[in-house]
Amino acid sequence: MSNPSILILPGDGIGPEVMSQVERIIEWFGDKRGLKFDVETDLVGGAAYDNHGTPLADETMARALEVDAVLLGAVGGPKYDDLDFSVKPERGLLRLRKEMDLFSNLRPAQCFDALADFSSLKKDVVAGLDIMIVRELTSGVYFGEPRGIHKEGNERVGINTQRYTESEIARVARSAFELARKRNNKVCSMEKANVMESGILWRDVVTEIHQAEYPDVELSHMYADNGAMQLVRAPKQFDVIVTDNLFGDVLSDCAAMLTGSLGMLPSASLGAPDANGRPKALYEPVHGSAPDITGQGKANPIACILSFAMALRYSFDQSDEATRLEKAVEKVLADGVRTADLMGPEGGSPVSTTEMGDVILEA
Ligand code: ATP
Ligand code: MG
Repeated sequence: MSNPSILILPGDGIGPEVMSQVERIIEWFGDKRGLKFDVETDLVGGAAYDNHGTPLADETMARALEVDAVLLGAVGGPKYDDLDFSVKPERGLLRLRKEMDLFSNLRPAQCFDALADFSSLKKDVVAGLDIMIVRELTSGVYFGEPRGIHKEGNERVGINTQRYTESEIARVARSAFELARKRNNKVCSMEKANVMESGILWRDVVTEIHQAEYPDVELSHMYADNGAMQLVRAPKQFDVIVTDNLFGDVLSDCAAMLTGSLGMLPSASLGAPDANGRPKALYEPVHGSAPDITGQGKANPIACILSFAMALRYSFDQSDEATRLEKAVEKVLADGVRTADLMGPEGGSPVSTTEMGDVILEA
């Protein structure tokens, strides 16, 4: 059998800097754990535009659809600000998401004990926090028709339509239940069924899928406004949260700040599972290309490294190896190793991107 395949798209800015640490870790897994991957690297974003005049070449798109997982660094930067919208770096990423049909966006909010002081909340509220928000990514109010700004009489009216089909809800619900089975068997679904028709359908369909296919998973429902409150009040009551595109946008940013630095946050975007149950998948750090620190060796590679840990878990069925990697990150943080973004106001001596990679590999 051939090795599982990975397409690496480092992209722009700090993307290549943080991704080079992931490349070392992938090699380590091959050498030390016998876990070999077929890795290929290509261009995306501004880097692809510079070489091909397009932020994502057709051949790259085709490979992304073939491989088992795509790892992406970051796209964009001031150099490309004045480009025409159709060739902006971000369009490369949007094309990947659209053509891979990545409808399920996974954003973990995990608080390492060593960084609990970084949270905007009290330490005991967030220490040990480990939750996952599953956001529907390809439908809902961001895409529903009709939309637009119209004239009614002598005033303008802005219109968006929240629209969900049964199958769109069902597939993201399945994605959340599958995830729950790999974690702690617990899902909370959030909508506003008290005031929205799409919320009523959301709750019905999630309940039906649960009863028919995932009765072993514990399911609860919550109105999304209460969910926002509970996320800040007592986030550890949750494990997997599944919600629509708009609520997911807001709730996942809210959950992210429970944990502290942008340099720590990984993400995964999943599509439909293939015949072997393996979903199309793209893994990327939540942060952007960080032009202000590019080329200075300051970038924190942990968000990108933890994104690869998610790939191990969700694309390659290697939960134990994913945990091994996460534990290594946890250990170096507990040992006090910090990149600049993880330094408090009192300062200290930060390590570089490569040094952070070194100690994680050692751990
Ligand atoms: P985008 O539009 O691509 O999302 P952005 O401007 O919203 O980009 P980032 O590029 O993520 O945001 O940068 C926001 C801030 O966070 C910057 O000051 C950047 O230096 C910092 N930052 C982002 N990622 C990291 C990282 N991995 N390590 C250290 N600092 C980071
Ligand atoms: Mg941003």
